[in-house]
Amino acid sequence: MWITVKKDADLSDVKASLTELGVWTQSLQQEGGPGRSLAILPHSAAVSSERILKIPGIDQLFAAESRMPKVDAQSGQILQEENWTLGQAPILMAGPCGVESEQQIHQAAELVANAGATFLRGGAFKPRSSPYSFCGFGQEALVWLREAADSHDLKVVTELLSEQNVDQVAKYTDLIQIGSRNMQNFALLKAAGQTGVPVLLKRGMAATVEDWMLSGEHLLAAGSRHVVFCERGIQSYDQPFRNLLDLSAVALLKHVHKQLVIVDPSHGAGRKDLILPLSKAALAVGADGLLVEAHPNPGQARSDGPQALQEEDLNRLGTLFEQSEKRAPTLCLKD
Ligand code: PEP
Ligand code: MN
Repeated sequence: MWITVKKDADLSDVKASLTELGVWTQSLQQEGGPGRSLAILPHSAAVSSERILKIPGIDQLFAAESRMPKVDAQSGQILQEENWTLGQAPILMAGPCGVESEQQIHQAAELVANAGATFLRGGAFKPRSSPYSFCGFGQEALVWLREAADSHDLKVVTELLSEQNVDQVAKYTDLIQIGSRNMQNFALLKAAGQTGVPVLLKRGMAATVEDWMLSGEHLLAAGSRHVVFCERGIQSYDQPFRNLLDLSAVALLKHVHKQLVIVDPSHGAGRKDLILPLSKAALAVGADGLLVEAHPNPGQARSDGPQALQEEDLNRLGTLFEQSEKRAPTLCLKD
């Protein structure tokens, strides 16, 4: 993006006015004299073009066409479904990593509802590193999950793993989860998008924010009603954590791009003792909600037991949401 400055304007005054808005620039050198064009540097705040063009002395603003117009169009929007909303007060989504039995998911739903959550999570189709690990009960589990959620007045979020199951999953869920491993499975994104159902798009474990947002564009281009971005940690070299929870990316998506963002501290940390502090941090950064793993008996969990919360810790987490009925407006220069 660059700006041209009128011939009679003072270049340093223009630069100072831009800096006040958080727009950092560098003069573009032109042959035969000082540059009259300014390049906008990438770490600048997102300020509307109308606001930039109001600065005295600015002639024109040139911007490359966005590669993600549909994601841009979501900016500042809330997701308003028939009986749930995302983007006003933060919400809690919780439940086991996998749906392991009818009884387990009913017990989990009770814990999750008692903690004040809006959504029940649980995988019917599980992506596992080893083919010999528990891979989920598929269709049967979708039915148990939906029934457990309905009987506790909860919504459902569950992962879609394959194009083959798209209609099946869309029928039972309120929000389709696309897992980290599939963030750039474009055929799957297309199939999920074509259902129209809103999608929770997890960030790939080695994905840049730009690639993550472009995957959001794939979903919207195919027909998704809304894409909600879910930060779940990126791969790091450090041993104590399963992943590195990138709260900078959450701040960027919330405050600059004004997208709906959910944070998953469970996969971020991989250990339950860090879930509460990371959840507080995520909400402080502006997350619209949390996706947290909880299990009635983590010791018996068939996947992700070490990061699953039990009743007491889940209830403690639930209290974070009681105080956040109405959130303070977020500071954003796009306003
Ligand atoms: C999950 O939510 O259980 C899961 C497998 O998540 P991710 O795709 O973030 O690893
Ligand atoms: Mn899991």
